[in-house]
Amino acid sequence: MDLIIEIAYLVSSVLFIMGLKKLSSPKTARQGNFISAVGMLLAIIVTLLDRHVLTYEWIIVGVIVGSSIGALMAVKVPMTGMPQMVGLLNGFGGLASTLVALAEFDKIAPAIPLNTGIAIILSLLIGGITFTGSVIAFGKLQGLVTGKVVKYPGQHPLNAFLLLVVIAAGIYIVINPDSFMFVLVVTGVSLVLGVLLVLPIGGADMPVAISLLNSYSGIAASTTGFVLGNNELIIAGALVGASGIILTLIMCRGMNRSLMNVLLGGWESAGVVPAQASQTSANITVKSVDSEEAAMIFDAAQSVIIVPGYGMAVAQAQHAVRDLVNILEKKGILVRFAIHPVAGRMPGHMNVLLAEANIPYDKLLAMEDINDDFANTDISLIIGANDVVNPAARHDQASPIYGMPILNADKSKTVVIIKRSMNPGYAGIENELFGYPNALMYFGDAKEAISKLSHEIKQL
Ligand code: NDP
Repeated sequence: MDLIIEIAYLVSSVLFIMGLKKLSSPKTARQGNFISAVGMLLAIIVTLLDRHVLTYEWIIVGVIVGSSIGALMAVKVPMTGMPQMVGLLNGFGGLASTLVALAEFDKIAPAIPLNTGIAIILSLLIGGITFTGSVIAFGKLQGLVTGKVVKYPGQHPLNAFLLLVVIAAGIYIVINPDSFMFVLVVTGVSLVLGVLLVLPIGGADMPVAISLLNSYSGIAASTTGFVLGNNELIIAGALVGASGIILTLIMCRGMNRSLMNVLLGGWESAGVVPAQASQTSANITVKSVDSEEAAMIFDAAQSVIIVPGYGMAVAQAQHAVRDLVNILEKKGILVRFAIHPVAGRMPGHMNVLLAEANIPYDKLLAMEDINDDFANTDISLIIGANDVVNPAARHDQASPIYGMPILNADKSKTVVIIKRSMNPGYAGIENELFGYPNALMYFGDAKEAISKLSHEIKQL
């Protein structure tokens, strides 16, 4: 039986790896998701058949309660609330690792082998940090906790001291594996560390922090695998941990942040101040157009790059965008999309929305692949994007987004910007692009504005 279980775990791990590989391209992502889901189903079934399971009643209760809450959240939480939800789910992963490590200690102490003891301490430390760190990240994105960079004197020495406390208590536990008191110290201090490490991170660095916490939740699961002697959990956790770190690095590059900065919890003040500290746009004079005028400009164009942003998600305008693309293409206009790595409010946000509207993947181009083409393009159509096209990031050293790579939408012949007002985006700062001589504001809700534009273009 043990051999069958191990072979099934191995097959499921291979399915995870194949699934991950396919997730790396939008074309094969759905298939990758399916393959990984089959791997997970296999892992769950095998684990349930494992003779180590003592009682099924509690498992069934857990599955029913957990699935009901999960299904309700999936239905209720709007697309724009996804980052918070993902953040919270990472936290639950960390909490699960902490609880399993506590239970395992309680079950096997004092006869704890050295390697299991170390794995328990690591699970408590990483799981604890992941749990409270994720709760704070959720609070920041939900507006329940300040989104600003929080700094106070002695912040880093305090964190270092707390880490030393965990290490010292951990060593004590490994040497004296009957001290539940010290286990509670490790757990408590780790939970506090999670709060202190994430609290200083500025709201706009949250995407990076969340993918890092996602990675932590994987590492915590992996260490819990060592606690339980479960190879599947070790492999699956390591895969989550590694892919989370890769995503974190990609996000860091997209926002021009150093990983160290996020790892150590706002070591330098590198966060964009989120929208609470908004500036007004009083200094900018803009030219605005209505749907008819905008339609005439599009009618004369040969190439269009669409830059989607958070506003497209808010307005759920992706289907209207697809209709517009069809109309423009029928007129022989080349239409492509420029996707900024941090557009929207979660990694891949724009890709997910546009895929939902069946916009072909080959039309979606990453920033580095399309940025040089803006200069040869007739129209950049910016739909509810703001920070990701703000030229201040290139030259204004005082700007909180200085250094963040942006899409070169301003370089195209004409820039048409759809948004409802002159309100700033997430970074809370004015966008000088709106006042550029080649920029035209087309005010309105993205979905409505695009539908009207499509209607007008069809009349021409
Ligand atoms: P921004 O947040 O910079 O701007 C969004 C714009 O959309 C706003 O200026 C708003 O203007 C407009 N808008 C809102 N609702 C609508 C609507 N219904 N119709 C039309 N327009 C609308 O978005 P970007 O995508 O350009 O940039 C993303 C920002 O979010 C970056 O600063 C990034 O760092 C940050 N971030 C990214 C995360 C990620 O993982 N991708 C996670 C967390 C933060 P108005 O109100 O006038 O309509």
